Amino acid sequence: MYFQEEPEHILIIRQQIKRFIAEEMPRDLVRQWDRDMHMPKDVMCKLAKLGVCGLTVDEQYGGIGRDIYAALVVIEELARRSMHLAGPFIHTAFYGGINISESGSEAQKQAYLPKLARGELMFAYGLSEPDVGGDLADVRTTARRTSDGAHVIINGTKRWCTAARESDFIYCLVRSDTEAPRYHNLSFVLVPTDAPGISFSDIEHTGLRYAKTGDVILDDVQIPVENIVGGEAGWNTGWSKLIGPALDVERLEITTCALGIAHAAVEDAWQYAQERRQFGKLISSHQAIRHTLADAKTKLQACDHMLYHAAWLANEGKPCAVESSMAKLFIGETALEIALECQKVMGAYGLATEYDMERYVRDLMCMPIVGGSSNMQRNNITGQLHLARD
Ligand SMILES: Cc1cc2nc3c(=O)[nH]c(=O)nc-3n(C[C@H](O)[C@H](O)[C@H](O)COP(=O)(O)OP(=O)(O)OC[C@H]3O[C@@H](n4cnc5c(N)ncnc54)[C@H](O)[C@@H]3O)c2cc1C
Repeated sequence: MYFQEEPEHILIIRQQIKRFIAEEMPRDLVRQWDRDMHMPKDVMCKLAKLGVCGLTVDEQYGGIGRDIYAALVVIEELARRSMHLAGPFIHTAFYGGINISESGSEAQKQAYLPKLARGELMFAYGLSEPDVGGDLADVRTTARRTSDGAHVIINGTKRWCTAARESDFIYCLVRSDTEAPRYHNLSFVLVPTDAPGISFSDIEHTGLRYAKTGDVILDDVQIPVENIVGGEAGWNTGWSKLIGPALDVERLEITTCALGIAHAAVEDAWQYAQERRQFGKLISSHQAIRHTLADAKTKLQACDHMLYHAAWLANEGKPCAVESSMAKLFIGETALEIALECQKVMGAYGLATEYDMERYVRDLMCMPIVGGSSNMQRNNITGQLHLARD
C-alpha cells in the first residue's frame, strides 16, 4: 500500500462543494432547518445543477461515469456543514443511482437513471419494520402477484422510513413468497409515494433531522410488475441485491457522513479553544485541552485513512466487504467519541443550540445504529474472515 495526493478532479469537487456551502448553507439557516426537520429541496435542486448526482451513474444513462470515491467526497464535504444536503444527496445518488445501476432492469435503468443523474428523483429506504431491525431477512411486509400477473399488491408497515414524504419512490424490501425458505423469499419493489393505499406517520426523534422519519403503512397498495427491481428476474432474488456490492457502498456512504460531521466537530472545537479565555489565558493554552484536541485530530486522521482506503477499493471494483464493515464499525464509533470530547472543550456552549456542536453529537449518536449497527458489522467481519464457530 502507498499513498499519494488526491487527484485534481477530487480537489476541484472539494472546492466546489465548499463554495456551494458558503453560498447556500449559512450556519443559522441550517440550524433553523434542523429545528423544523426541513429538507431544503430547493437548495438540493441547486446542488444537483453542479452535476454531482451523476457521479453514481454511467455515461450511457446520462451520468458522468461512476466514481464512488468522488461521490463520497461530495458527502463528506456536505456533512461537514450538516446532514441537510448530505442526506438528500444520498437518497438520490446512492439509494437511487447506485441501486438502480447495480440491480435495476434495463428498462428501469433507462427510465430512472437519467432523472437520478439530474437530481430529479429521490428514493427513500423501506427496509426496517416495527419488528425487524438488523434481521432484514425477516421482513413481514408481503407482496403478492395479481391473478393476471400484471400487478403486485403490497401490505405491511415500513418503519423509520426517512424522507418518505419527500421521495418519489420507496425502495422497499418485501416478502414475496410465503412458502420459500429464508433468503429466497424476498424482493425489492419500487413503491410510488403517491400510490393509493399508502399513508405516513412520524416518529419523534433527536438525530438525523434532515427530514422527517416514521412509518409508511401499505394497505393493499397496487404497483405494476414493472416496478419489481430487476424486472421479472428480480422476483424472490431481493436478498442477493441487498448483500451485493451496493451494500459495501451503502456502509461507506453513511460512514462518510460520520467522518464529515467529526471533521466539523474538531474544526469548531479547535477554533473555540483559540477564542475562549479562562484563568487569564486561552483555553487552548491549558494542556488538558491541547491533549484532547491532539487526540481528536489523531483519531480523525485514522478515520480518514480507513474510509478512503475502503472507498478506493470500492471504486476499483475490488472486494471490500471486510474493509467497508471495519470502516463502518470503527468510524461510526470513533466519530462519536471524537465529538463527545470536542463537546467538552466547548463547555456549556457545547450544549447550546446557538452552536452546532450539540447537533453534531445528536447526529453522530445515530451512526453506530443506522445502516447496520456496530454489532452487525462485527458479525460481518468475523463471518467474512471465517472465524470458526460451533
Ligand atoms: C434516525 C434514523 C433514521 C433511519 N432511517 C431509516 C431508513 O430510512 N430506512 C430504514 O429502513 N431504516 C432506517 N432506520 C432504521 C435503522 O436502519 C435501524 O435502526 C437499524 O437497522 C437497527 O435496527 P433496530 O434499531 O431495530 O435494532 P435491532 O436490530 O433491534 O438491534 C437492537 C440491538 O441489538 C443488537 N443486535 C441485534 N441482533 C444482533 C446480533 N445478531 N448480534 C449482536 N447484536 C445484535 C444491535 O446491534 C442493537 O444494539 C433509521 C433509524 C434511525 C434512528
